[in-house]
Formats: sequence, structure tokens, C-alpha cells
Amino acid sequence: MRQKLVAGNWKMHGSLSENRALLGELRAALADVRNMACAVCVPFPYLAQAQDVLTDSAIAWGAQQVSEFAKGAYTGEVSASMLLDFGCRYVIVGHSERRALFGETDQVVAAKFVAAIGAGLTPILCVGETLSEREAGMAESVIARQLDAVLNVAGMSGIARAVIAYEPVWAIGTGKTASPEQAQAVHAFIRQKLAVLDMEIAGRMIILYGGSVKAANAAELFSQPDIDGGLIGGASLVADDFVAICKAAQF
Ligand code: PEP
Repeated sequence: MRQKLVAGNWKMHGSLSENRALLGELRAALADVRNMACAVCVPFPYLAQAQDVLTDSAIAWGAQQVSEFAKGAYTGEVSASMLLDFGCRYVIVGHSERRALFGETDQVVAAKFVAAIGAGLTPILCVGETLSEREAGMAESVIARQLDAVLNVAGMSGIARAVIAYEPVWAIGTGKTASPEQAQAVHAFIRQKLAVLDMEIAGRMIILYGGSVKAANAAELFSQPDIDGGLIGGASLVADDFVAICKAAQF
């Protein structure tokens, strides 16, 4: 059985004092969580704080993006090895907001993925279609294209070191969740696509669902056979909600 994972994506929210309270509440409330993994992906400036509060807790931490470059004259960029310096285990790669708002192409996402695994981080690779792509019947082809860009450079041995997050763009931050059946169908598609290349790796791949997951819908989503947990935006900023979602992933 695959272990479930629930990861929070705080986006550009928080402050030192708010985060200290939230991280402390999560640390205490999730101390007895069993049979699942949880993590929070915080803004870069708060990685040291996450490391400080969460070390030796049940919660791992990570960043929301990473440079594709290892070092050099790239003003404003943060490398994978810098994230490791702050104890990160995870880094989100290819979030739809990065793709849509910051021009990250499939190729850039793939390069960031390679940089992350090269440093020993676990990328949480986001894939997903927009509403118009879904309505045009293109959801699977878009996701296949996004996965192929990474497979072409990292192969199945690279994918095996990652977590995939299916995040339909139309469900992110909109309050519109994919139904468990809709999400399951895409997760099964992703797993089958990977199984064509390597059945064993596909079988143990953790595939998260993200898009307006809440305490009220988490258990039903996570009970689908190919949904191995969630990537949680808004609800990860509210301790009780995030804790309830993590607990919904326990078996
Ligand atoms: C996200 O940011 O990855 C996300 C899924 O956000 P939300 O849960 O708020 O839809």
C-alpha cells in the first residue's frame, strides 16, 4: 500500500509571527499522526523558521519553487542546494501559477525538476489542465505533454524520486473541487501512462490531488484508489482545517 502524503502550499502568505503560531499548532496537533506523511511548503524567507520549529517533528517542509540553475549570476534565484541547506525535503515544481503567471514552460519545469532531484530534493511535480482545455476534451493530452517534458529529461528513474500532483487549474483557489470520480479518472490515467514505461515504479508513485481540498471533501477524495493524498492551498493556512485534512489521509 502506498503511503499517503498531504502537503500544504502556503503561497505568498504569512509573516514571521503568524507562521510561528501556525507551525507550532501544526507541530502539536500532528504529533500523533500515523501512517501518513505531511509537509508544508513555505515562502523562501520562512524556510529557516520552518526548520527551526519543525525539526524532529512529524512534519517535513519544503519550498514552492527552485531555480533550474545550480549557481551563478541569476539575481533573485534560489538553488536546490540552498533549499537543502534549510533542511527542505520537498519542492513544488511546475505549479500552475508559476506556469501561467511567471512563464514557466514545460521545458523550464523539466529543468527545475532535474535540478531538484540532482540535489536530493523530492519534487512535487504539478500537472493539470485549464477549464478550456478540459472543455475541449484535451485534459489527458495536456497532462501527457507536461509529463513527457519531464520524462524526456529525467526518465522513469527521475520520476520515481518525485511526487506528482494533479491540480486541475479550474479547481485551484476557486472553491470548485474536481469530483472524486473526475480526479480518480485522471489519476488512473497518469498511473497507466507511467505503467507503460515501468509498472513497478508506476504502482508505487504517489499521486496527489490538489484543487479546493477541504476538511469536508478530503476523506472521499483520498479514498479513491489512485489518489494518494493532497496538495492543499487555502486550507493549509488554517491549522484546524489542515490537521483535519491530514487526519483524513490516515488509514
Ligand atoms: C494549490 O495552490 O496548489 C491549491 C491546490 O490551492 P487550493 O487548495 O486553495 O485550491
